[in-house]
Amino acid sequence: MVAPHPSAEGQGMSLSEQKSFSQLFTEPTPFPIHVRPVTTYKGEAAVIFSKQDAEKLAAPYRWVLVGKFSHGRPSLEEIRKIFTSLNLKDQISVGLLDYRHVLLKCASEVDFNRIWMRGIWQLGKFPMRVFRWTRDFHGHKESSLAPVWVSLPSLPIHYFDKHSLFSITSLVGKPLFLDSATAAASRSNKARVCVEVDLLKPICTRVWISVEGEMRFWQKIVPEEMPCYCSACWRLGCSVDECRKNSSEQHVTHGMR
Ligand SMILES: [Zn+2]
Repeated sequence: MVAPHPSAEGQGMSLSEQKSFSQLFTEPTPFPIHVRPVTTYKGEAAVIFSKQDAEKLAAPYRWVLVGKFSHGRPSLEEIRKIFTSLNLKDQISVGLLDYRHVLLKCASEVDFNRIWMRGIWQLGKFPMRVFRWTRDFHGHKESSLAPVWVSLPSLPIHYFDKHSLFSITSLVGKPLFLDSATAAASRSNKARVCVEVDLLKPICTRVWISVEGEMRFWQKIVPEEMPCYCSACWRLGCSVDECRKNSSEQHVTHGMR
C-alpha cells in the first residue's frame, strides 16, 4: 500500500488540512493483521506482507476515490462544502494526498458510484477528475479502472435478474449496478449494467449462455462509450495523436475510440 504521507509540496498545509488528513487515515482496520517479522531483500532489511494482509489493510479504503487536480485546487474546506451541498446519502471525508490529489472517502457504495460515474467535477474554477483508489495507486499513473455502461441487446427477459446479469457481465469486469429501466424490467430490448472495467485488459464482447440440455445462444456484450487508456503516459482519455509521450513502437493504447 502506498504510504499516505503528504509530499514536500503538502508541508505547508493549514492546521485544518492536517487535521482532516489524519482523521481520514487513523481509523482502526477492522481486520488487524499479525506483526510481520523483518526479513531481507538483496541483503537489506525488508518487511514483506502477504497479499491477504495487504487486502485487509486496504479494506477500510474500499469506497475511496482519488480526486486529481491538474491546474490548482480549491481548499479542502471548499471541496467539503461543495460535496456537503450535494445531498449525498452520507457525509464524505476529504483529505489531502499530495499537492494535486485529494482522497474522497465515502461511507457507502451509492455515494461512491455517484461521484465516480461523473468522471469530472467542476469545483469552482478547478476541474477535478475522479478515479477509484486502489492499492497500487501511484501519483504519476492514473487508474485504468473505469465505470463503463454495458448493454446486452435482445437478452431474453427472464435473465433480467440482478444476479443473472451480474453473472453474465462479470466477464467484462466487476459489475456495479443496473440502470433503472433494467432493474424495473421496463425496457425489454436490452439490459444495461454498469461495470468496473480495467481498460488495460481486452474486453469480452460475447458470451455463450446455455441451460443444461436446453436453449443455448451467443449473447452480445456491447460497451457504451468505452474510454481509452494510454499505457505510454498512464492517462485515462489519452489518444495516440494527442499523447506527448507517443514514441512509435513503445506506444500502445487500449480500448475503443
Ligand atoms: Zn498517452
